[in-house]
Amino acid sequence: CGIVGYVGTARALEAADGNSSHSALDVVIEGLRRLEYRGYDSAGVAVVADGAIESRKKAGKLKNLEHELAERPLPESVTGIGHTRWATHGGPTDANAHPHLADGGRLAVIHNGIIENYATLKAELAAKGVPFLSETDTEVAAALIGDYYRGEADGDITRAMQLACQRLEGAFTLLAVHAEQPGVVVAARRNSPLVVGLGDGENFLGSDVSGFIDYTRRAVELGQDQIVTITPESFVVTDFFGAPAAGKEFEVSWDA
Ligand code: GLU
Repeated sequence: CGIVGYVGTARALEAADGNSSHSALDVVIEGLRRLEYRGYDSAGVAVVADGAIESRKKAGKLKNLEHELAERPLPESVTGIGHTRWATHGGPTDANAHPHLADGGRLAVIHNGIIENYATLKAELAAKGVPFLSETDTEVAAALIGDYYRGEADGDITRAMQLACQRLEGAFTLLAVHAEQPGVVVAARRNSPLVVGLGDGENFLGSDVSGFIDYTRRAVELGQDQIVTITPESFVVTDFFGAPAAGKEFEVSWDA
């Protein structure tokens, strides 16, 4: 199972030389291919484009997802996330594959790990009228982030992630993108790995450095119970309560 995230600048996408020009979809698919060695049963991606989330997901190998993407192409985007799933809660079906959407389809979330208290949280959210379309623990995390986004976090995706993580038990690497926040990916980790890749006018996220090794060697390993918000020009690390925190910066030395 693996996780990849990317934010670049539209200017980079339009660059003529081909080198500095990355589409979010190309980066995340390439990253997922690098992470295949970890094993998985389904794959999916989401991008933010024209003020909306667009996602595609498929049970089976990456080539199934790529076939789906060829049939139903995604719009060009410089903000995206990608996931390979190793099912723990709910069988390996298209519906259970990630991303999971919340906030009326405006929020997309991917997750590696297990949310141990998902049943309690699901009952709480269902009682408030939140709909669920899958059997996964992950969709509950997505719904919780979406609920905070509309409520207490008041449209701040980082704050919504912080509030949700305060309630989540278990092991998780979580990534979220919101339709109203192009150029932003927020991520969190507890008992599960998360690394930031630092580029020039673009930044990356991976469950390990293989997720972005083709693009940069400068990386930051996040510590336990940390959250990071990346934009093309910045990365900001906090704890689950919003207090400033710092990851550990390093250079990737091995050859991929
Ligand atoms: N527990 C989640 C699920 O079953 C995530 C599994 C994973 O780590 O890929 O969907």
